[in-house]
Amino acid sequence: NINDSHGQAVGDKALQVVARFLTGCVREGDTVARQGGDEFQILLQDDALLGRTMALAQTILAGLREELSVGGDRLALTTSIGIAMCPADGDTFDDLLRHADTALVRAKEMGRDHYAFFTERMGNDIRARLAMQRQMRGAIARNEFEVHYQPQLCLRSGAMLGAEALLRWDNPVLGKVPPNLFIALAEEYGLITAIGEWVLDTVCAQIRDWQAAGLGSIKVAVNLSGKQFAQDRTVPFVEATLRKYGLDPSCLGIEITESTVMGDPDKAVAALTSLKDIGVSISLDDFGTGYSSLGYLKRFPIDVLKIDKSFVDDVTTSSSDAAIALSVISLAHNLHMRVIAEGVETREQVDFLTRHGCDEMQGYYFSRPLAVDAFTALLRE
Ligand code: C2E
Ligand code: CA
Ligand code: CA
Ligand code: CA
Repeated sequence: NINDSHGQAVGDKALQVVARFLTGCVREGDTVARQGGDEFQILLQDDALLGRTMALAQTILAGLREELSVGGDRLALTTSIGIAMCPADGDTFDDLLRHADTALVRAKEMGRDHYAFFTERMGNDIRARLAMQRQMRGAIARNEFEVHYQPQLCLRSGAMLGAEALLRWDNPVLGKVPPNLFIALAEEYGLITAIGEWVLDTVCAQIRDWQAAGLGSIKVAVNLSGKQFAQDRTVPFVEATLRKYGLDPSCLGIEITESTVMGDPDKAVAALTSLKDIGVSISLDDFGTGYSSLGYLKRFPIDVLKIDKSFVDDVTTSSSDAAIALSVISLAHNLHMRVIAEGVETREQVDFLTRHGCDEMQGYYFSRPLAVDAFTALLRE
């Protein structure tokens, strides 16, 4: 159920944009319908529903939370989702729809931007999370993870300088699970180290393959979770993996966030310093969204600041976001760091960032994260 930011009914054009988005989220055989108003019905054909349903609800909430552009207008949406499952909640379409409506009311009571199940027992997150945990345990062995690569470009020359490695999980039961969801759960279940080490190994093997194919020395940045980073074995593992594939450490970067390092700042300084000594470069991700202390910024051996997407989004329309972006750029340069803007989607943002001395950019404007084959094709161009 969808309303615009002022609670007003949204126009047909906006609803078409939403319909297109929803259609892109489901699989072949699923149904997306609109019976009128601003409510959509989605019917999933599946016999192992719980985890996939949860993941889809998350995907829809996250996808529609972003402002949509309709014509030239920006439209802010809040979404509520009610879910009924067959056969637990009924086995006719009418029953399911009625119960989904009841669940929708509950989702709205939860403050919108939520999903709710008709049967509380089913909606009990613990069960859905257990389903996800069960699937996650065997996911590496079953080869369900894949690393995608998103280009990072020099704003002055337009040259591709590197890429960020972004993990994807496609599970036969759950479908495509968004990384924000499964990374958080993997951290909770103690699976993040195994997954994170798989990512590092996969990325290093890939860099070696690109080099062997004569595609140059591309530099790839890997995201490290706080839980992984806190383990003593992580720095030795990075070193051993670089050695295993015969790579120059300057091919590898890591991305951390403020919360990654704030748990135990002294330990973090030590670990980061060892990585930096090896020659691995360090980026501070989502900069400006956490509790940044400029004091720490000075203590951590950081090479690159990433301007968070939330500031980039409105950099050309909001004077305060523009001011924040400019401050981050000059702060970074004063501390002899480079700056990357992430989530760059428009020509106007590119122009603004270039004009104000930002070094690099990453975002849908140039490219979404790409599977290996597509990224390799880009390297060959
Ligand atoms: P992040 O590190 O901040 O990654 C940037 C996210 O923004 C990615 O989402 C990327 O696909 C998305 N993005 C990039 N450009 C644009 C744009 O122009 N517009 C929009 N709307 N989005 C853009 P993704 O791939 O869903 O990853 C989400 C988060 O999951 C990442 O946020 C990161 O924190 C985490 N993650 C992903 N892969 C890994 C991994 O291998 N290890 C760990 N620990 N975390 C990971
Ligand atoms: Ca409505
Ligand atoms: Ca990142
Ligand atoms: Ca980020």
